[in-house]
Amino acid sequence: MSTPLKTVLLFGQPGVGKGTQGAILGTIPGFVHLATGDMFRGLDRESELGQKFLSYSTQGLLVPDDLTVRLWRQYVQGLIDTNQYRPDTDLLVLDGIPRSAAQAGMIDEYIDVLRVVHLVCLDTDALVTRMKKRAEHSNRPDDADEAVIRRRLQVYHEETARVLEFYDASLISEVDAVGLPGEILMNVLNEIIPAARGKIGNPFG
Ligand code: ADP
Repeated sequence: MSTPLKTVLLFGQPGVGKGTQGAILGTIPGFVHLATGDMFRGLDRESELGQKFLSYSTQGLLVPDDLTVRLWRQYVQGLIDTNQYRPDTDLLVLDGIPRSAAQAGMIDEYIDVLRVVHLVCLDTDALVTRMKKRAEHSNRPDDADEAVIRRRLQVYHEETARVLEFYDASLISEVDAVGLPGEILMNVLNEIIPAARGKIGNPFG
């Protein structure tokens, strides 16, 4: 990771739809989606790291910054080494990191943030409902328990929200997270594409 990675950050409260939008964006040629929640859930549950992750996530807490950033760096390097991500031409769509002011500082040297897309939903109860519904088919213990969901929302307000202060206000776009996924996608792309134009390659030449 010698030159800073051209990056868009998907930002917002748990359950706001970062993962849904990120997964769709990741299907666009030249876009690579990396969700730290998925990265953590991909760890072997029996391994030491996997156990450590579960000990935090099942309480609705953040994994410590050092561990998160170390794992994230290794993961990005793995994507580069296996040609799943070509930093010279691709846009990295980060979802779930940075999640604290400290993380923002720690990863700053590695990323060139072209835009921060802040998905906004003011209706907290709607987010809780979404996450409980997601629990029915996602096998996520942290979504099954309402107390854990509410704790995550609290952690977002106490630790994550201030990440926005780290970035220049001109880089931040607020997008309404309530609506049809296609409509939200359209609005997200309207923010990303102009910011990325000329900065990333066209996979079709
Ligand atoms: P959500 O945004 O719905 O809470 P995620 O899948 O993004 O869910 O994250 C699930 C859990 O993974 C978090 O509650 C936290 O324990 C851990 N996690 C994910 N990203 C980070 C991060 N950047 N720093 C610390 N912990 C993280």
